[in-house]
Amino acid sequence: MSQDHNADDQRANGVQECDVAIVGGGMVGMALACSLASSPLTRNLSIAIIDDNPALNAGGLISKDALPDPRVSTITPASISFLQDIGAWKYIEQQRHAYFDKMQVWDYTGLGYTRYNAKDVNKEVLGCVVENKVLLRSLLLCIQEKDSQKIVLPSRLASMGVQSGASSGKMDSRLAKLELADGSNLAAKLVVIFEKRFGF
Ligand SMILES: Cc1cc2nc3c(=O)[nH]c(=O)nc-3n(C[C@H](O)[C@H](O)[C@H](O)COP(=O)(O)OP(=O)(O)OC[C@H]3O[C@@H](n4cnc5c(N)ncnc54)[C@H](O)[C@@H]3O)c2cc1C
Repeated sequence: MSQDHNADDQRANGVQECDVAIVGGGMVGMALACSLASSPLTRNLSIAIIDDNPALNAGGLISKDALPDPRVSTITPASISFLQDIGAWKYIEQQRHAYFDKMQVWDYTGLGYTRYNAKDVNKEVLGCVVENKVLLRSLLLCIQEKDSQKIVLPSRLASMGVQSGASSGKMDSRLAKLELADGSNLAAKLVVIFEKRFGF
C-alpha cells in the first residue's frame, strides 16, 4: 500500500500510525529513539515518543550558567562510546560535564576502602559525571537533528490494547492501539514502555 493510502486511512480513522511508539521519554527512552534514528537499518522508521515532560519541548544547549541539576549520572567509557555512536555525546561535550580519572570507594560502616586509577589500566579517564538534564537535552538535540519522522507527543499513555481485526475497520489488526490521556489514539507496530506503571 502506498504512503498516500496509509495517510488517507489514518485521516479516515483519526488515528495516527507509527512504526515504533516509545512510552516514556526519559534518558532510556530517548536513548533508544536516538539509537534507532542513527542506525542504517532503523533510521527510516517513524517513531513517536509519548511523554508530557515539558523538558522535551525545549531546544538548544543548556547554558553553563543555568542552575545545575542535582541528579547526575556517572557515565562509563562503554556508555560514552554508545552515546558517541548515536551522535549525542558531541552535545554533552558542549554542556556541563566532568571527566574523572580516580575514584575511592569505601563502606561507611568500616575503615576499608579501595582506589581506582585510570592510569593503572592505561586509560586517561574512568568515566564522566553528567547532569541528567544535560543527558536528556543532548539526546533530544540528537533526535531533532535527524529528521521529521521522529515526533514527541506531549501526553501520557492511558491504556493500551491490540487492535482487534473485527472492530478495526481499515486498521491493520497487527497494530497495538494506544489511548493517550489527551483523548488521542495512536497505532504502532512496536511499543516499548519505559514507565513504571505499565513497565515490564
Ligand atoms: C533519587 C534518585 C537518584 C538516582 N541516582 C542515580 C545515580 O546516581 N546513578 C544512576 O545511574 N541512576 C540513578 N537513579 C536511577 C536513574 O535515575 C534511573 O535509572 C533512570 O532515570 C531511568 O531512566 P528512564 O528513562 O527509564 O526513566 P525516567 O527517567 O524515570 O523516565 C520515565 C519517563 O516516563 C514518563 N512517563 C511516566 N508515565 C508515563 C505515561 N503514562 N505515559 C507517558 N510517559 C510517562 C515520565 O514523564 C518520564 O519522563 C536515581 C533515581 C532516583 C529516583
